[in-house]
Amino acid sequence: MKIILLGPPGAGKGTIAKALTQYDGSVQISTGDILRGAINAGTALGKQVEAAMSSGNLVSDELVMGIMEERLQEDDCKKGFLLDGFPRTIPQAEALSALLVKIGEKLDAVLELQIPRETIIDRLTTRRTCTQCGEIYNVKSKPPKVEGVCDVCGSSEIVQRDDETVEAIENRMQVYEEQTAPLSEFYEKTGLLVTVPTSDREPVMAALQAKIG
Ligand code: AMP
Repeated sequence: MKIILLGPPGAGKGTIAKALTQYDGSVQISTGDILRGAINAGTALGKQVEAAMSSGNLVSDELVMGIMEERLQEDDCKKGFLLDGFPRTIPQAEALSALLVKIGEKLDAVLELQIPRETIIDRLTTRRTCTQCGEIYNVKSKPPKVEGVCDVCGSSEIVQRDDETVEAIENRMQVYEEQTAPLSEFYEKTGLLVTVPTSDREPVMAALQAKIG
């Protein structure tokens, strides 16, 4: 399936995307993961985006479109793609529409997760991430089996992301409201939007199936 996952930071887009990859082999594409990978690898791209990302601001549309134009034309996208954290602005959404026409692809749906603000702040401030493999933990609901050690790769670098401090989260929420929330109306007009008030897997899958069959 070819879908966009829309929703504020911490809504559960990544978790749902992972579940969907297991369902039909579509590939999850997270622009946040790509950018964090560049920062961890110390590349020129990473250096360029580091300050914006740690404060919770968006990186430029041009830069993100450059990444996505290449990524969406890789072979693994033929089976399907789940766009997690992209597009995030109206110009990105417009550029994506043009890109999809150019490469002969079509979206099946835009899945919007509508989660209350308090839930998000609680989720994000308690979230921890393995810097080595990207596995996500939560100090309350999903701690690693052995404290401080990643279940997946064994690394002991499980950290709170710079952009998951209370200050950065407040900023990300504001950025979301101002720049990303308008995408909901944008996609409503295309008839592709499916909005769900939860990130629980079963109701999300049911809503998606009802939309795309
Ligand atoms: P995420 O992991 O999706 O929450 O993204 C983390 C950070 O990466 C965001 O706060 C932005 O700084 C940057 N980022 C990720 N995706 C985009 C995008 N589509 N446009 C601009 N900035 C992005």
